[in-house]
Amino acid sequence: MESLTNRIRQVERKPMNFFEKIYLVAIAKGMFITFGHMFKKRPTINYPEKTRPFSPVFRGLHILNRDEEGRENCTACGLCAVACPAEAITMEAAERKVGEEQLYREEKYAARYEINMLRCIFCGLCEDACPKDAIYLSETFAPADYQRKQFIYGKKDLLIPHPVNEPDAYKKAAGNRVKAKIIN
Ligand code: SF4
Ligand code: SF4
Repeated sequence: MESLTNRIRQVERKPMNFFEKIYLVAIAKGMFITFGHMFKKRPTINYPEKTRPFSPVFRGLHILNRDEEGRENCTACGLCAVACPAEAITMEAAERKVGEEQLYREEKYAARYEINMLRCIFCGLCEDACPKDAIYLSETFAPADYQRKQFIYGKKDLLIPHPVNEPDAYKKAAGNRVKAKIIN
C-alpha cells in the first residue's frame, strides 16, 4: 500500500512464550514499582486529623460577627445580599426592642439571616460590602452533607460564639481573618 509519509510500520504479532503467558515477570515488575513507592514521601495527609496551612487569601465558611460585648453587628441593611453575585443571601429585618440592647448593636437587626451554600462561590463580596464588620469568610470549610436543605445556613450556624461567655470558642471561630477585637 502506498503512503504519503512512509511512516507506516507493520506490527509484529509474534506469539507469546511460556513466561509471557503466565504473566509472572509482568506481575513481578508491577510489584517492584509498587514496593518502590512505599519508601517515597507520601503526598497525602490524614485529613481531618491533620490539615495543611491555608493560604492567607483562603475564604471559607461565613461568620456573622459580634462586637467586643457580644452584641450582633449585623443591622440587616441588605448590602451583602445586593453585592452577592450568586443571590445566595436572604434576610428579614426586625426592630430592636427596649431591653435588647445587649443583644443587638444597632436599632435594626437580622431576625433571619440565611446563606445558601450550594449557591455561594466564596468570592468574599459580601464581606467587602458590609459596612458593619458583620460578615467574614473564615478559615473553616463548609462541611459536606447528603441533603440539600442542610446547606441552607441560618443564624444558628453562622453566628460566632459569644466573646465574653465563650472566649475560646470565639477565638477559634474568629481565626486570623476576623478583625474583631478579641477579649482576653
Ligand atoms: S461569598 Fe460571594 S457568593 Fe458567597 S454569599 Fe458572599 S457574596 Fe455571595
Ligand atoms: S452582614 Fe453587613 S451588609 Fe449584610 S445585612 Fe448585615 S450589616 Fe448589612
